[in-house]
Amino acid sequence: MTTTPSAPLGVIGAGTMGAGIAELALAHGHPVTLTDVSAAQLDRARASITASLRKLHERGKLTGTPEDALARLTVSTDLAAHATSRIIIEAAPERLDLKRTLFGQLDDVAPNAILATNTSTLLVSAIAGTVRDPSRVVGMHFFNPAPRMPLVEVIVGADTSDAAVQAVTDLARALGKTPIRCQDTPGFIVNRVARPYYGEALRLHAEQVGDHAALDRILRGAGFRMGPFELMDLIGLDINYAATVSVFEAYFGDPKYRPHPTQARLVGAGRLGRKTGRGFYDYRHETQPDAAPTRTAEPVPAPNVRVAFHGNARIRPLIEAALAAYPRASLADADWIIDCGESLERRERLCELRPRGNILTLAYPGSATALAARMPYPERVAAFSVTPPLTEETLWEVMPALQAPAVADAALALLRGAGLNAVKVGETPGGVAARTIAMLANEAISALAEGVADAQTIDTAMRLGTNYPRGPLAWADLLGLRAVLGILEGLHHETGDDRYRPHPHLRRLALAGRTTIHPQQEPTHA
Ligand code: NAD
Repeated sequence: MTTTPSAPLGVIGAGTMGAGIAELALAHGHPVTLTDVSAAQLDRARASITASLRKLHERGKLTGTPEDALARLTVSTDLAAHATSRIIIEAAPERLDLKRTLFGQLDDVAPNAILATNTSTLLVSAIAGTVRDPSRVVGMHFFNPAPRMPLVEVIVGADTSDAAVQAVTDLARALGKTPIRCQDTPGFIVNRVARPYYGEALRLHAEQVGDHAALDRILRGAGFRMGPFELMDLIGLDINYAATVSVFEAYFGDPKYRPHPTQARLVGAGRLGRKTGRGFYDYRHETQPDAAPTRTAEPVPAPNVRVAFHGNARIRPLIEAALAAYPRASLADADWIIDCGESLERRERLCELRPRGNILTLAYPGSATALAARMPYPERVAAFSVTPPLTEETLWEVMPALQAPAVADAALALLRGAGLNAVKVGETPGGVAARTIAMLANEAISALAEGVADAQTIDTAMRLGTNYPRGPLAWADLLGLRAVLGILEGLHHETGDDRYRPHPHLRRLALAGRTTIHPQQEPTHA
């Protein structure tokens, strides 16, 4: 709380973010100077801030009256109005040339102020390049809507001083936010680590693993608050696409961040999501994405069906518990073998047993077809995938192998007979949810290995910045690092796409026998 309430907080740009930050600061008792090149935009911002403050007041969430708060607001089209500000937050359009020019002008207007930029994707160090003393330039990345989203990424540029970091960290706390500190790398934490959530969804869609609604249902079933397609529609396909392109270019074309033609096509067609009435979903007739996964199960276990379990994936005990309705048999006698291996090698061991039953195999390290091809009886194999934690909402994905498509239908009946929500999807290494989570985890591990932030910070940023139910590193711990590595290797092997290369740090952790990122979560039994 080191901000002096008498010194106004400067905010440059009165658009979506600038108006939101100004409103937040006013509601927390700060005087605010808000500037913009457009007087009309300043009028609109004042009107929207007034309306929001009144709503807060009606709900009893504002200290003092809206009029008190508004009396602390000064608006101007003159940048020189910031001369008395101690901290200035820039929220002008996302263009490097424009921001560099602005910061150069601030050198004369406010030579001693802390200069913070709310850029989403540009490097703070590059914006600081026109300032005589770049140590006073720092990133302060709010999320939209700024008054409500709890996270602020504090970005440390190449020359940023500790004092500047401390000043904006204290300010973020005084505004009721959770500040997290990260290095100045493209996309910082949230906009970088979240990229696969959209990128994998677009690829799963293009590979016809499922349509957008089916993929959304599976990911909601896995615990995400919103599926990727409804989320892209909400964010705006153009905004989401621009963020992807920006991170891709900032990493000089690394295939991990490669945009997808499906999204480019929809943006080109003007189907930008909710704001234009149509994106992946059509909102023109008040159709909405399904609110919740549909329960398809009729829990009638097939009579006389006996199952056996094989393989040592970390998730196996959860799978066994979910299928407890069926009596157990030996591997040789079972009607169904539920194979929970997490590497290709373990499937080879199963071959030696030459069982008589069908095999429902966990698709983590390969597609149904690739795994069936490693069995002595490929005509008896289907694949399945689920991700921990298993809940009532979990959708069990069943994938047919090319060698025996009908086995997948029998597998669906088996799972539904145990009361599970099972759906058929196209085949892919990992399945929909586990592939998505493995890719998020790989990106989080790469940020961790590059020192962008520590594990706790990365997970906190992803929970608060994107509303994920848990951080990708905590999710990797639930899956087990060998499973995450297996999924990525399966994808890498089958697609030949470098996008799926596992980060060396993940590989080394697995080679060292670590099953989790957080050592305290190592299981105590073998
Ligand atoms: P916006 O287009 O809504 O607002 C930008 C405002 O800046 C406009 O009012 C415009 O008139 C004004 N402006 C243009 N040139 C100016 C100048 N030279 N000096 C002062 N003001 C000028 O944009 P936004 O969505 O509020 O984004 C602003 C910044 O915040 C960008 O860097 C963006 O990347 C970042 N950001 C946006 C979001 C988001 O979801 N919208 C989230 C986090 C960060």
